[in-house]
Amino acid sequence: MASLQRPKGTLDHLPDGSPKIEPLTSARWHAFVVDAAKDVLERAGAAFVETPIFEAVDLVKRGVGGSTDIVRKEMFTVSYFEERDKFVLRPEGTASIVRAYLENGLKQLGSPLRLWTAGAMFRAENVQKGRYRQFHQVDYEVIGSADPIVDAEAIQLMVAVYARLGVKETTVKLGSVGDPQDREQYNAYLRELFGRHAERLSEDSKDRLVRNPMRILDSKSKDDQVLIDELQPKAMLDFLGDDARAHFSAVRSYLDAWGVKYEVDPSIVRGLDYYRRTAWEIHHDRIGAKSALGGGGRYDGLAEELGGAHTPAVGWAFGVERALLALEQEGVALPSADGPLLFVAALDEELLAAAAKVAMSVRAVGRAEFAVKARKPGAAAQDAAKKGARFLALLGSDEAARGSVSLKNLESGEVRDVPQANLNDILGGTR
Ligand code: AMP
Repeated sequence: MASLQRPKGTLDHLPDGSPKIEPLTSARWHAFVVDAAKDVLERAGAAFVETPIFEAVDLVKRGVGGSTDIVRKEMFTVSYFEERDKFVLRPEGTASIVRAYLENGLKQLGSPLRLWTAGAMFRAENVQKGRYRQFHQVDYEVIGSADPIVDAEAIQLMVAVYARLGVKETTVKLGSVGDPQDREQYNAYLRELFGRHAERLSEDSKDRLVRNPMRILDSKSKDDQVLIDELQPKAMLDFLGDDARAHFSAVRSYLDAWGVKYEVDPSIVRGLDYYRRTAWEIHHDRIGAKSALGGGGRYDGLAEELGGAHTPAVGWAFGVERALLALEQEGVALPSADGPLLFVAALDEELLAAAAKVAMSVRAVGRAEFAVKARKPGAAAQDAAKKGARFLALLGSDEAARGSVSLKNLESGEVRDVPQANLNDILGGTR
């Protein structure tokens, strides 16, 4: 029988030392990225939230948009006997967070409310490097404020996470998708422009021409891209009304004031109806123009779309796997893992339980492991060195009779007899 394998487009996250390990498959690298984001975001006042991994199909349809590839082709639906196809494995986090905000009355926590989450997302995409079917995102959302300063801070925080990770070659591409009436005018312009060449558009884009012409601009189809290059459509930025223009320039002046670098990119489009004004992406110079590290935007219309009151909000998400590819490209080294504080070995079989008990009680002050078989002193020292332990405790019959261990400091080589009762004080004081 062929051995079983993980589903296509998924990754295992493995411990250090696993064969052929790379940042993408390293559990410690994944945790490193999420911990860095946690630190940066919580210092800015963001509270952690966690929502279910599956949600109602309707939430995803309304939250992500019926005309998107995600809803049209990439949903992993989950069904069970009587309620078939009712759920979908979440493809992104924003819709769920806004649902949770509305459903749980989080408005009472005050505005703006800064929230963050991290976890697995699911899209049945064509798998390639940097594009998986189960991937991980860090999400940050600020709910309840329409002020441009929160947009600018959101961008600053995204940049700060990458800086914390040690990734240097990032570029923020900033645009604006205007207000709904600005977008209507832009869509009318695009419909007219592309309408004259409708036969050359991909099937998906023919549909977009009717429903939402702006989405043609971020089509992945080659034919569409050729046509776009040829027609050189005007940009959304040329269609901003006075309010959206003022908001955009306010966001830019905050970023300038804080020294956050960005490029204005008129091609940034977020085609969904509930997006308003600020939209941006963060790219890495070496992982390809089409694979953004992350993206964000203001989505003032989403809460209403989900049946709630008008609630302005802005947020972003970045892909953990993409961050890991960027770290790898730049050769960022993961800080080495600490070994155990103590490794304990029994010198004969009858003392195994007692040696294990010593390790268990030292766990009150640090990481402590034990040999599961009796070891000779030399072999125990090798085990401890392999694990990178700082101390080795040997338990032989003499030590057991005295209620002590022979404790060796593996850095200095010093050995002394230490009562078991004093171990935690001694070892706890060495950190
Ligand atoms: P989106 O929700 O599509 O705006 O994606 C936000 C970020 O999530 C992207 O910039 C990527 O870093 C990451 N991402 C999206 N889809 C995938 C995928 N299939 N595999 C890996 N990362 C992804």
